[in-house]
Amino acid sequence: MTFSLHGLAVSRGIAIGKAHVLIHEQHDVRETLIEPGQVETEVDRLCAAIEASADHLRHMREKIPPNAPHDVAAFIDTHLLMLGDAALAEEPIRLIRERRYNAAWALRNQRDAIVSVFDQMDDAYLRTRRDDVEHVINGILRSLQGGGLSGTVADQSLAGAVVLADDLAPADALLMQHHGVVGFVTEFGGPTSHTSILARSLGIPGIVGVHRVRRFVQDGELLIVDGNEGVVVGDPDQRTLAHYRRRQDERARYSATLNKLKRAPCVTLDGLAIELQANVELPSDFATAREVGARGVGLYRTEFLYMNRTEAPTEEEHFDAYQKLVAAVSGLPVTIRTLDIGGDKQVDPALTMRGKGANPALGLRAVRLGLKEPGLFLPQIRAIVRASASGQVRMMIPMLSHVDEALQVLELVHAVQAEFAARGIPFAPDMPVGGMIEVPVAAVFADGFAQVLDFLSIGTNDLIQYAVAIDRVNDEVNYLYDPFNPGVLRLISMTIKAAQKAKVPVAMCGEMAGDIRCTRLLLGLGLESFSVHPSVLLEVKGAINGTDANLAKQIAERALKTSDTAKLRRYIEELG
Ligand code: PEP
Ligand code: MG
Repeated sequence: MTFSLHGLAVSRGIAIGKAHVLIHEQHDVRETLIEPGQVETEVDRLCAAIEASADHLRHMREKIPPNAPHDVAAFIDTHLLMLGDAALAEEPIRLIRERRYNAAWALRNQRDAIVSVFDQMDDAYLRTRRDDVEHVINGILRSLQGGGLSGTVADQSLAGAVVLADDLAPADALLMQHHGVVGFVTEFGGPTSHTSILARSLGIPGIVGVHRVRRFVQDGELLIVDGNEGVVVGDPDQRTLAHYRRRQDERARYSATLNKLKRAPCVTLDGLAIELQANVELPSDFATAREVGARGVGLYRTEFLYMNRTEAPTEEEHFDAYQKLVAAVSGLPVTIRTLDIGGDKQVDPALTMRGKGANPALGLRAVRLGLKEPGLFLPQIRAIVRASASGQVRMMIPMLSHVDEALQVLELVHAVQAEFAARGIPFAPDMPVGGMIEVPVAAVFADGFAQVLDFLSIGTNDLIQYAVAIDRVNDEVNYLYDPFNPGVLRLISMTIKAAQKAKVPVAMCGEMAGDIRCTRLLLGLGLESFSVHPSVLLEVKGAINGTDANLAKQIAERALKTSDTAKLRRYIEELG
């Protein structure tokens, strides 16, 4: 009988295939003591297992398809770095030598100790790191116990299968692609886990957080994974199957037409030209963005410059990164966002010289931190001003909650420009400085910000979390994270209207801008500039080019008034 289970959709698309249930490897570690004469052999065994795990990852890295997004290699590199860190083996080796633990037991002790430290941190970014530690150490355990080295997804005939697991390691996402797995469902994991991000990049439909899915589904049973809605359909009847097959076909046809859009202008059916730019995280990411025809960079997140280090990046390091991006976009605009560390983007505490506070999402993050720590902020501002000499550079300030913060940053920029002018260092005096609207008071007071800034950009990831008062990474409350919430739509509408009235450009760079369920509505609210992840850019362009902006305005008016968001969504979908 047809049944359905619900979870969190983390990677879009529809997959239909036979279930391949992965039984969790317990890494059944026996707590035995070794003989004194075996100690050095056991140490060697541990070191060999670490090396074998690293070899395996290096091998996987070579298998990454050339067109895979940069994220893919970056994840593997992170795990390789962990494996290469001598500290990883230090404690287990001590336990082998001093307490005569066997290698697996010593390693499991180390894993449990590290994981319990992360568990106390209760922070999304660090939770992701905790998963990384677990995946890396479990990989070594597997190799110590003589298991296959291919991670949870073993080298077997998986072509066309839907993988069901308790959790999957990022490396498994790569293997899934390699073996032709069409979809996946896990019992645990969240949308910000590396596996989810990687699956999205690789285009494998997936759902996480489907508790006890492996109890309900039998190996070999036919399954449908609806990665758009987060629904797993088991034992589908002919009608359901036909419905999803039709949706798959539509999707395939649509993807083929999308490629034709690469060089097409971005313009609505009624002739309104829309700006479509890319969000990038590393200078090298622009290659993918250029591929799909992005008209510049609407959000360049600079946090990577501050990650995995204990000292602030120098002005030269900043400058080097910005120059690379400016050169890559060749003449198109580049919006460099100043540091947004803190909150869900934690860095080494030594870097900020502060703890993260009891509630980091509401704490000293982004511009608040920058203004308190000129040692972190000033080298960045100086480098951005310098980079402005060689391209269309724009500087963007995140997390503004008061116009005073914008004025203080502008003062710093003007002081740097005055110094450069006196010393004959080139810069563009008219470099636009804008701000992100991602705190509800900033949306309500967008007219005030529009008076002092050259452009605004709506950061819906944060705006929604602060507007509905949830932690955007807490899976207990993320059902409230709804871009269609009428209150959220009003904040967006207020921002757009205020900016338009002040004749200041306004864009959106949060995930909502790349969510095609929202495109029509956003156009209706008057948004004319979108900045989105390169992987969804063509889809968004397709949605824009297929929308009548005038008609969309009528929907938007309804949307701003109704509290029945489910009905509203259906209405918007029906128009598509
Ligand atoms: C946002 O908040 O919408 C945004 C783009 O910034 P980030 O996701 O980096 O916080
Ligand atoms: Mg933000």
